[in-house]
Amino acid sequence: MSLIVQKFGGTSVGSIERIEQVADKVAGFRAGGHSIVVVVSAMSGETNRLIELASEIQEHPTPREMDVLVSTGEQVTTALLAMALNKRGVKAKSYNGSQVRILTDDAHTKARIKEIDDARLHADLKEGFVIVVAGFQGVDEHGNITTLGRGGSDTTAVALAAALKASECQIYTDVDGVYTTDPRVVDGARRLDKITFEEMLEMASMGSKVLQIRAVEFAGKYNVPLRVLHSFQEGPGTLITLEDDAEMETPTIAGIAFNRDEAKLTILGVPDMPGVAHHILGPIGEANIEVDVIVQNVADDNTTDFTFTVGRNDLPRAEEVLKKVAEEIKALEVRSDNKIAKVSVVGVGMRSHAGVASQMFAALAEVGINIQMITTSEIKISVIIEEKFLELAVRALHSSFELEEEPNDENADSVI
Ligand code: ADP
Ligand code: ASP
Ligand code: MG
Repeated sequence: MSLIVQKFGGTSVGSIERIEQVADKVAGFRAGGHSIVVVVSAMSGETNRLIELASEIQEHPTPREMDVLVSTGEQVTTALLAMALNKRGVKAKSYNGSQVRILTDDAHTKARIKEIDDARLHADLKEGFVIVVAGFQGVDEHGNITTLGRGGSDTTAVALAAALKASECQIYTDVDGVYTTDPRVVDGARRLDKITFEEMLEMASMGSKVLQIRAVEFAGKYNVPLRVLHSFQEGPGTLITLEDDAEMETPTIAGIAFNRDEAKLTILGVPDMPGVAHHILGPIGEANIEVDVIVQNVADDNTTDFTFTVGRNDLPRAEEVLKKVAEEIKALEVRSDNKIAKVSVVGVGMRSHAGVASQMFAALAEVGINIQMITTSEIKISVIIEEKFLELAVRALHSSFELEEEPNDENADSVI
């Protein structure tokens, strides 16, 4: 008998009918003799609805009150699922984050889990209860409710699996695994049987929202076996693995991630002298604005153009800060653009294959897409392009790297 942590996302618990279906599934696992901890999200759309309600009252509510508000969505689904299980004769109990005691820091709306008190859970599991825990939430050391950032129920599940030393953490969602790219954007996207933690982490941080970044980080750190599966269809899903055990067959690229959440700022005609980057980015950092891609050009006339990207929500603030900086350093002008997108190709195979960047640039050039900025890491190349070309770019890259093809691996499962 093994202990499994199962997480069901918003769409999977989006109606009473779906909750009943989830209960059938969990009851089946329980009948099979497994100990089960279930983590649930709020019903689909609920978190957005709550955020919208808040905005009708106040433009910038305190993060503390936002957390009190948005954490309610998950509490509803825990109780409904526990009821549905009880109705089936399965002993079940629901808990919210503070009842378990999922202790976090006090960074409201983006808190990090520090510790989980597993005593209560162990006692219930011993008595044969299925435990249903509210995802996405915790409590700080002063008893304030906190939340873990959008998509945070994934992280709750992985953290519980680590704390309870579960044999597997299963993330049930509305797709049947991790794909080479978002299957809702590219028809030919292919489900991966396996992906390494390293690649999944890079995919998640570059915008693939199928798993929250922190969940992947946590799973890698504590070596939690993690699998993404479809809530209502049978199938092996995708296993997130520690090492790359089939080095020979490793394709160069595992997948393509993208995001539309960034905006670009350029400060033109900056006097080119030591300390200029610090002058520009220092105040941006002090305003707590995260910078992603940075490009600085060298010009002949002793002035330079300096371009960087920030989160789209931060653009108005960043622009304000930058305009002040421009005056101080006697730069010419500040320009901003929020119609950009970032596309990234990710793969550990890049380490041993040259030419990925040039293949990427050639594929984009062939469909007439201009690259505005480029950034690379050991296993990833990202480009910033005009947002209207995003889907075209992802499709072109997917086909250029032949991601719809099964890699040359005789043992690989057939694709759906
Ligand atoms: P849940 O509500 O279950 O947490 P999410 O909406 O957060 O579900 O994540 C699942 C979605 O992630 C899918 O519906 C899919 O559109 C999107 N997605 C983005 N990139 C990928 C990818 N590479 N593989 C699979 N799904 C992806
Ligand atoms: N309900 C939260 C959200 O929509 C957390 C989650 O679903 O994982 O972001
Ligand atoms: Mg999610």
